[in-house]
Amino acid sequence: MATTSAVVLGRLDEVRVWQEELYRDLHAHPELSHQEHRTAQAVAGRLAAAGCDVHSGVGGTGVVGILRNGAGPTVLLRADMDALPVREATGLPYASTATATAADGTQVPVMHACGHDVHVTCLLGALDLLAGATDVWGGTVVAVFQPAEEVADGASGMVEGGLTDLVDTVDVALCQHVLPLPAGCVATRSGPVLSSADSMRVTVHGRGGHGSMPHATVDPVVVAAMIVVRLQTVVSRELPPGEPAVLTVGSIQAGTKSNIIPESATILLNIRTYSDETRTGILSAIERIVRAECAASGAPEEPELELFDHFPLTENDLEVTARVAAAFAGHFGDAAQELAPVTASEDFSDLPRAFDAPYTYWGIGGTDSEVFDRAAAAGRLAQDVPVNHSAAFAPVLQPTLDTGTAALVVAALAWLGREEQLGREP
Ligand code: ZN
Ligand code: ZN
Repeated sequence: MATTSAVVLGRLDEVRVWQEELYRDLHAHPELSHQEHRTAQAVAGRLAAAGCDVHSGVGGTGVVGILRNGAGPTVLLRADMDALPVREATGLPYASTATATAADGTQVPVMHACGHDVHVTCLLGALDLLAGATDVWGGTVVAVFQPAEEVADGASGMVEGGLTDLVDTVDVALCQHVLPLPAGCVATRSGPVLSSADSMRVTVHGRGGHGSMPHATVDPVVVAAMIVVRLQTVVSRELPPGEPAVLTVGSIQAGTKSNIIPESATILLNIRTYSDETRTGILSAIERIVRAECAASGAPEEPELELFDHFPLTENDLEVTARVAAAFAGHFGDAAQELAPVTASEDFSDLPRAFDAPYTYWGIGGTDSEVFDRAAAAGRLAQDVPVNHSAAFAPVLQPTLDTGTAALVVAALAWLGREEQLGREP
């Protein structure tokens, strides 16, 4: 008996032809967050060709394609479209040489260093395949092509831009990311899978003066240094052992000259957590330490603490993940694996949250499996396998695109397939 997914994936040979061409084109023409105009246009064209209702300009450059096929559940599938200010060093024939003006006005190189070109290509392929086999499934597919994942506000921007007006309800939301795992594999995980992330700017105020007369000043450099050291105790001394969290001071700036004690110092922090409780605990510990150190030094003014670039926790629904994992095991066999928690962060979950829908987020491999196995055998995975955001990140074209396309189809059909729907009747 041919499974529903085997029927839908029957046209993969045909779809693969335009997918590979589109992927090389997208890879050679990356666009920064909120500047995804060319990509959005290519997406809209493909969606229209597949017979979707197309909504462009949702929350800026966002595009939504809706494929309606009678009664049945509504499944939201999401791909992000933006690239990064990285100078590509992959040496690929379709490598990017693009530059663009960043939000701060500087001219920067641009590269698809996070594989969002893979996500776009796979989702467009999955829609084409589903559109070509409407007799074996029923329901609605909502394909969301999201801008600005890398700056954490693309998903919320689409929600504010009217995404929830386009569809009444979403029963489940599904998303995938290409990762430095062997190409051909898919990896799922229940519960927290990506950390939440927060950045914070802390400004401490002192009293400036001459470097030779410290007694007449309150030195903000010393205050900032004490804060940085003391912050190292938050994760090590205040969290239960085994509770994963990261608190990094990524920037500390003060002063202009060796013999001037400055007026203030600024510290930039990054925080990663896997539970809201831990996040709240860390944020309040930071505030307590910063205020106490300022008081201890006799700072003349209260410090300022400002949160920015918040990424929500990505916490996969248990039932949804179990259903996708079972479908993957059926289709991919041993190539369906368990995903280890990833310390990276994502804003995808802002989409299902807006619909109050459960979701799951899985990984697909993009590393040549021989390269991966050799590095693993030598204990050199961290050194020899380029990770997302690196200038050498280059997912192998195949089987990465086939796998990502099949994964979306197989996962969506776990809700939309007619046989799957019958199989769930009591
Ligand atoms: Zn990224
Ligand atoms: Zn990414």
